[in-house]
Amino acid sequence: MNRRNFLRTIGAGAVVLAMFGGSVTAISGQSDAEIEKRVEDVLSRMTLDEKIEQMSGNILRDIVQGFFAKGHGYTGFTPANKRLGIPALKCLDGPRGVGFFYKTTCFPVSAARGSTWDAELEERVGAVMGYETRAVGANMLLCPCINVVRHPSMGRAQESYGEDPYHLGVMGAGLVVGLQKHVMACPKHYAVNNIEESRMFVDVRVDERTLREIYLPHFKMCVEAGAASIMSAYNDVNGYLCGHNTHLLRDILKGEWNFDGFVVSDWVNAVEDTIEAADAGLDIEMPRPEYYGKHLKKAVLDGRVSEEVIDEAVTRILRQKFKFDIREAGYDRNKVACREHTALAREVAQKGIVLLKNSNSALPLDRTKVRTIAVVGELADKANIGDLGSSKVTPPYAVAPLEGIRDRAGGLVEVVYDVGRNLSAARRIASQADAVIVVAGLTWKDEGEGNDRENLNLHKEDERLIKAVAEENERCIVILEGGAAITMESWKDKVPAILMAWYSGMEGGNAIADVLFGDVNPSGKLAIVFPKSLDQLFEHDNKSKTVEYDYYHGYRYFDKKGLEPAFHFGFGLSYTEYKYENLRLDKKKTGKSGKIQVKVDVTNIGRVSGEEIVQLYIGYKGSRVDRPVKDLKGFGKLALEPGQTRTLTFELKPGDLAYYNIDKGAWEIEDIEYVVYVGPSSRQDDLLSDTFKVSGL
Ligand code: BGC
Repeated sequence: MNRRNFLRTIGAGAVVLAMFGGSVTAISGQSDAEIEKRVEDVLSRMTLDEKIEQMSGNILRDIVQGFFAKGHGYTGFTPANKRLGIPALKCLDGPRGVGFFYKTTCFPVSAARGSTWDAELEERVGAVMGYETRAVGANMLLCPCINVVRHPSMGRAQESYGEDPYHLGVMGAGLVVGLQKHVMACPKHYAVNNIEESRMFVDVRVDERTLREIYLPHFKMCVEAGAASIMSAYNDVNGYLCGHNTHLLRDILKGEWNFDGFVVSDWVNAVEDTIEAADAGLDIEMPRPEYYGKHLKKAVLDGRVSEEVIDEAVTRILRQKFKFDIREAGYDRNKVACREHTALAREVAQKGIVLLKNSNSALPLDRTKVRTIAVVGELADKANIGDLGSSKVTPPYAVAPLEGIRDRAGGLVEVVYDVGRNLSAARRIASQADAVIVVAGLTWKDEGEGNDRENLNLHKEDERLIKAVAEENERCIVILEGGAAITMESWKDKVPAILMAWYSGMEGGNAIADVLFGDVNPSGKLAIVFPKSLDQLFEHDNKSKTVEYDYYHGYRYFDKKGLEPAFHFGFGLSYTEYKYENLRLDKKKTGKSGKIQVKVDVTNIGRVSGEEIVQLYIGYKGSRVDRPVKDLKGFGKLALEPGQTRTLTFELKPGDLAYYNIDKGAWEIEDIEYVVYVGPSSRQDDLLSDTFKVSGL
């Protein structure tokens, strides 16, 4: 299969090429060749009934044999076949941990993890989720969710890493690699699944170039990382349900990308026709056989579906089942949500928090100088861990911000809390404290599965509370919770400090306190644009049966329209400052199959150590087609002590800068001048730049 090299940063600040996925020896210990032989042998001994049985979920059998008999449950289950030694497929839901039957580690949502821009950290998260999945008896976790956050109103934005396909691909591949140390991963929802309320019926019309450049690259990167399966989405794309979509499933996924895993349908009504789905390459209908099962058997016997189609699907299913066929004895149930795992949840939460504003040195709070802190807001006293839909996780405990702040304040600082419903009470404690912290934001009631947001503001009560306490205390720090952009123009200028904490998981309250008190220097950066208002965006149409997607969304849209957002894609502050210098390319010209090396020096010019996310964008001079002002094509992270300078190296391949030529039906590398931008965010003024040419060699 295809394997992909991609850029990752290692300790010394060099960017290295790391091989992800496609291991020659599967975790079952068998080589690819041995597995293929075993698949061939088993397939040759299977009856039609046995084959068909492998191709659909059997939730009833799971409930009887699993839930009632042994007290465990799975979200999806396809039966084992004892006669032939085929293991069962036992799926649980991700992506913020192992959902929701068991008490497992609840990580920050993917939106928070995306803000870490750290694929190695995501790989570690994946490894823990994979371990816990196996330890509770399952062998597949239904994630990563890598749908593009096309509009911040998208209800499931929290489940995805952000708006950019390259960033989504790097982060998603990180999770896949981590998970697949233990279980099968299932990137979802393939494809163009970006609207919640109409997801069951919407037909998204999208031209081939937009599809290839914006909505598919991240799925390809996860396939190249070795993903064992892919979940088809509920919606239609260009007139065909994703699970019936020959173009998406056969032509692109299984054809062009050489995907060797299996495709599962999404869970409710994602299949509508036996023959169309089977012919298009949908390998497993979940969670029960509504169109497969006896209908599929009849279609085969009647000659309406060929047995080759069945054999191909079963080959894919067996291949992955055998690759991940390991004995579970080594997995310790007591390690689920153990200290080591929850410590990782805390680390990720710390690194995903984005410091959006910090004037007058409002942060960090110095425990030896601040005597009283007022904390206000209903969410301060709640562990707000995200949606209650399929991504729900039930951790053994979850730390609310107030608890974390009290704990970190220790005996040194007095912490006074008011829920904030009565403004005069909130004003009173704010006026008497050295600093006031407002915790505000969204909950599962405002956004989630099947539920898009109505607007991008905070609730009116939260806005009123912020304005009121900010009048009483000029050291007013706002902590925001939510899964995507929040607009804040009506109060942003009235407060000196704003932290975006997302839904920060079971250790979120501790991580927030770590950042507030400066025990951790914030390093997260936005992986979505924060607009000033809803008016800056195109409509999020979640009612129509047909929706047309344009090429542009997110920072590409803002760049193209010349719009100034509230906070740029890639933006995030720190308690220190960094200086970027000496952007240099190893050559100014290369052939289409060549490589360009890009280096930049970054210095920590402040007083505390920190981690800086460095971003590389590409612009296209004199392109024959309309192209974005710039596209993200690389990123890395540098840990820097005060005064320290380190060099980050990126490698660019012209092939990665190609556009999809619709007329030719192929990717095309243009012989033009490319602008390399490197800097701390996508904001044009922050970027260093240089150019190189690709010639027709
Ligand atoms: C969701 C999937 C989920 C599945 C199983 C569906 O409704 O869209 O993301 O994995 O349910 O719970």
